[in-house]
Amino acid sequence: MAFEGLADRLQSTIQKIKGKGKVTEQDVKEMTREVRLALLEADVNFKVVKQFIAKVKERAVGEEVMESLTPGQQVIKIVKEELTSLMGGEESKINSADKPPTVIMMVGLQGAGKTTTTGKLANLLRKKYNKKPLLVAADVYRPAAIDQLQTLGKQLNMPVYSEGTEANPVDIANHAMKQAKDDHLDYVLVDTAGRLHVDNDLMDELKQIEQNVKPDEIFLVVDAMTGQDAVNVAESFNEQLNISGVILTKLDGDTRGGAALSIRAVTDKPIKFVGMGEKLDQLESFHPERMASRILG
Ligand code: GDP
Repeated sequence: MAFEGLADRLQSTIQKIKGKGKVTEQDVKEMTREVRLALLEADVNFKVVKQFIAKVKERAVGEEVMESLTPGQQVIKIVKEELTSLMGGEESKINSADKPPTVIMMVGLQGAGKTTTTGKLANLLRKKYNKKPLLVAADVYRPAAIDQLQTLGKQLNMPVYSEGTEANPVDIANHAMKQAKDDHLDYVLVDTAGRLHVDNDLMDELKQIEQNVKPDEIFLVVDAMTGQDAVNVAESFNEQLNISGVILTKLDGDTRGGAALSIRAVTDKPIKFVGMGEKLDQLESFHPERMASRILG
């Protein structure tokens, strides 16, 4: 389970304070010290931890007393609210174009799960919103990526737009837009190229596609299991492109949760979905509040 270690530590920390009828500054100090260690151990960005602890402390010491809660419960409520807000507060929705098709660009490093997530997102759009997506193979550098998208299209019984490996990705995206309009499809999901590292050529190509197709969303796909590397990758992409949301993959294998807890604070971009497995139906909307409740037990 994601956040296993963090959940264990935080839950035992809050157990200690839960029943207290009176919470002293010393209690708050001790509790926040443990929360701080738990977050650092979960690989949360240290600056993010610092800000988080400062906020909790300030509120826990100054908070007005609510009659229905014991002081201990109030402190826990503060931790939960701050965790929720750390992960972005409200659940975010997918932007949609005034006039279809809505264009979503999928970007990210190779191996992050971009192509799989493109398929998962298409599946979710159809299942949950009854929409018709077009999958677009704009990663022309890896023939395997095109084959993979075509296989996904077959599995999902959805159209895939491809011009093979010889065409220019910007042209492919433009032509795919036309096809989606002609066929009255609702969404165009552009699977762009990834590289092993962030580099200028990749960014230039992505910027060109962005300028041409003017996407309604640019989803950055990052691998939760890479922890703070995922946060650094998110920061680099966010500096160069108008990222509108993050999709965090492989959360099923991430026992720590550092990326999930740091990305919003570092990039100011919401996590919109999380990948919870390899299968096509294992993409979930990200609910900060539910996640915080799960962590705190
Ligand atoms: P791309 O290079 O970014 O397009 O990455 P792929 O889509 O090819 O995915 C790389 C690997 O990650 C594949 O083996 C996927 O099955 C796997 N993968 C993608 N998303 C998830 C996820 O949410 N959970 C797990 N466990 N595996 C995932």
